[in-house]
Amino acid sequence: MFNIVIFGKPGSGKGTQANFLKEKYNLYHISTGDLFRKNISNQTKLGIEAKSYLDNGDLVPDSVTIKMLENEVLSNKELNGYIFDGFPRTLNQAESLDDFLSSINLKINATIALDVNEDELITRLLDRGKTTNRSDDQDIEKIKNRFNEYNTKTSILINFYNKQDKFFSVDGKGSVENITSRLFGLVDSLI
Ligand code: AMP
Repeated sequence: MFNIVIFGKPGSGKGTQANFLKEKYNLYHISTGDLFRKNISNQTKLGIEAKSYLDNGDLVPDSVTIKMLENEVLSNKELNGYIFDGFPRTLNQAESLDDFLSSINLKINATIALDVNEDELITRLLDRGKTTNRSDDQDIEKIKNRFNEYNTKTSILINFYNKQDKFFSVDGKGSVENITSRLFGLVDSLI
């Protein structure tokens, strides 16, 4: 199995590129943001618990997020691997993911970051907010809060995965096709 974490700030293109990676390498795509939004629209207990965090651009507490992720992995075991999109986002999540995967004889093979500067990301997110219902993409203060969550809680994972020799960064600027081919080139060299 080949398991990838796709990593990057909000708006860096993780979801878009995860879809291409999933098709090419036959991976199961798990987006924790999508799972939360699905639970919110279905008004499940989990969705009700998560809603205010998503509305404000805050991270959902680890206890809720980790359990949801583990359930999703255990319910979908048939493909060549997983692509984790938007998870892990804290050190605790990253350590839990390593422990959990090793308990089922799996591991993360690579963490790939899409590198894009914040000015460009703000433009992209506000643009996306015009065509989706995502309130967290429509308000500059919420966007800035999401960057702040990333900078204070998530960016330390670069060091965490670097220490394991699993961290790779790809230029996330340019056309979608160019970014996809950079990613395919990298993954092909790692498989
Ligand atoms: P995303 O779609 O990845 O931008 O995530 C949207 C929102 O879902 C985030 O701003 C958080 O509120 C929540 N979320 C997604 N993934 C996580 C995670 N791994 N840990 C905590 N909160 C998360």
